[in-house]
Amino acid sequence: LAELRGVSRLFPIPGRRGAVLRAVDGVDLAVRRGELVGLVGESGCGKSTVARIAAGLLPPSAGRVLIDGQDVAALPAAEGRAARLRVQMVFQNPHASLNPRFTVEEIVGEAVRYHRLVPRDALAEHVAAQLLRVGLDPALRRHHPHRFSGGQRQRIGIARALAVRPDLLVCDEPVTALDVSVRAGILNLFLDLRDRNGLAILFISHDLSVVGHICDRVVVMYLGRVVEEGPVDALFERPRHPYTQALLADSRSALPEGTVPVRGEAPSLAERPAGCPFHPRCPMARPDCRREVPALRGVGEGHRVACLLAG
Ligand code: SF4
Ligand code: MG
Repeated sequence: LAELRGVSRLFPIPGRRGAVLRAVDGVDLAVRRGELVGLVGESGCGKSTVARIAAGLLPPSAGRVLIDGQDVAALPAAEGRAARLRVQMVFQNPHASLNPRFTVEEIVGEAVRYHRLVPRDALAEHVAAQLLRVGLDPALRRHHPHRFSGGQRQRIGIARALAVRPDLLVCDEPVTALDVSVRAGILNLFLDLRDRNGLAILFISHDLSVVGHICDRVVVMYLGRVVEEGPVDALFERPRHPYTQALLADSRSALPEGTVPVRGEAPSLAERPAGCPFHPRCPMARPDCRREVPALRGVGEGHRVACLLAG
């Protein structure tokens, strides 16, 4: 359904003239129809940049974004717009992402009206249907966002994304800002939308345990690169990259046998280590890890890992 191919993104480093950091470095990522894919890594590893590129909110510096195999940037303007509507974003902070001056009806219907996706006289009904889909009472559509709780506001954000009939939702830490007590409800909503409507979801999180609950497949990023990807069962039962093992150990109360806690903070993207970017923190590092950049290699069905020790 959607694919990033060799996508990189550079940003200038503030205060360092001419210096750039590579927030995303040669990422390949595909999401199939109806698939729930988790993208995990520590903050600053480039996941939000990948999310914004996938959702068409940020152009890649290199590489391509394909929807149904077509390069979105190469499509004629109208078709490119239509292709981009098929991928919608749900943001982390439902307090900041909803305009407080608009009613729920205006917020959810805004893009639909702008792109004339339903006839004018059917708009109110369309908005009401989206609110029902996310478990909100359509009678509340004339209210402003401040009347709603954090969980309800995130549902409004999801209804807004659904209103343009996307095939893929890109959700950047959609439960991180929410009360623990309402997180499960939102996660179940994503599962429901996938099961009932065949929606694909790219679910970005720093929390591997949340991803493990709902995703079919997991992609792990470290310092702008994919270091491991695979079916959720394989990845949880037999994580192959020392970084994935460390993330798993962090997300579990007891350390599983043979896993290691991650050491120290991730280096800045601006100072990416040579060789394997994980080597300064890796408990298994060998001398050649400082020189050789490990490529992703297959270690099982759909399971790939970028570590010199794997395979
Ligand atoms: Fe660790 Fe070397 Fe594997 Fe990198 S390549 S994760 S440093 S063992
Ligand atoms: Mg982020």
